[in-house]
Amino acid sequence: MDQTAPTAPHANTETKEFSAEVGRLLDLVVNALYSEREIFLRELVANAADAVDRRRFLALTDSSLALPPDAGVIITPDKDTRQITISDDGLGMTRDELVANLGTIARSGTRAFGETVQDAKPEERPSLIGQFGVGFYSAFMVAERVEVISRRAGSEEAWSWRSAGRGSFDVSPATRETVGTDIILHIKADADEFLEPMRLQTIIRKWADHISVPIKLVRDGK
Ligand code: ADP
Ligand code: MG
Repeated sequence: MDQTAPTAPHANTETKEFSAEVGRLLDLVVNALYSEREIFLRELVANAADAVDRRRFLALTDSSLALPPDAGVIITPDKDTRQITISDDGLGMTRDELVANLGTIARSGTRAFGETVQDAKPEERPSLIGQFGVGFYSAFMVAERVEVISRRAGSEEAWSWRSAGRGSFDVSPATRETVGTDIILHIKADADEFLEPMRLQTIIRKWADHISVPIKLVRDGK
């Protein structure tokens, strides 16, 4: 599987506002769930595995979308750069899909979570998160900045989506050798624990054991 380094900011960067609904959900997810931050990995690995499954399904009728033989999800923590990268060989996203899926349209699961958690007492909130997929925005519980680099199956183009989770996000052309998606988390100062491979391994065992797509954790750069 391919590991793509983050690209430098591009001259063709477009800045877009989060929709009001997405902005509210972001605040809610980041602020309501502090004690349950580890579920960010469950959410991002689930998305990556879904994308691999969706590509596999479409490849049944379009062999040009076929998965590489070792298709899966790779999680790479790096203490030196304070980044965690979650890479997949899934279907990827076009520019328009990045903008819609990660910035303007609130997913139904996240919206239902938002409505329920707002009505719940603070002490009830942690148990609620197990019942809902809180989704991509949970990345901002542990990351001060998130970059997504994605190349849609069937496309030669790759796109970068970047945000600090407040107000707006940037979209610009990028490069990626192969089809799929990289989610690059720039880890917050108070979230060091998530740069430890052992900690990540424990979270994967707890939340991602049932996922059928291969999940690999890279330790010590190997
Ligand atoms: P949900 O998974 O419930 O749809 P999320 O907030 O987790 O909601 O993700 C929003 C959407 O973003 C997904 O439905 C999918 O279309 C897209 N997405 C997120 N991560 C990836 C990924 N790694 N590859 C392809 N698409 C993704
Ligand atoms: Mg999801």
